[in-house]
Amino acid sequence: MRIACPLCGERDLREFTYRGAAVLLDRPAEPDPVAFDAYLHLRDNPAGPNAELWHHAFGCRAWLRVVRDTRTHAILEVGLARDARGRLAPGVGEAVVPAEGEGTA
Ligand SMILES: [Zn+2]
Repeated sequence: MRIACPLCGERDLREFTYRGAAVLLDRPAEPDPVAFDAYLHLRDNPAGPNAELWHHAFGCRAWLRVVRDTRTHAILEVGLARDARGRLAPGVGEAVVPAEGEGTA
């Protein structure tokens, strides 16, 4: 599997580390224990497009938001995590559906 880092270009998977679902970008603003518990512990396990956080640990060290199809491991979208903050991850109210012709990575 290869990931196209927006800063470095296409690189091998071994340069990246997986952090988890991109829902981590949407940290609750208020100190509500129930919302924070859900933020920390509750995750969907979708079969299909899923927004994830990856770290280009052996490259530019940027955090990336990668939309990956969990059935095929096809990379559908890659962007900087800082640009994605505030966007909901799939399974949290927003589905990521690639446009026709996209998603052939
Ligand atoms: Zn990079």
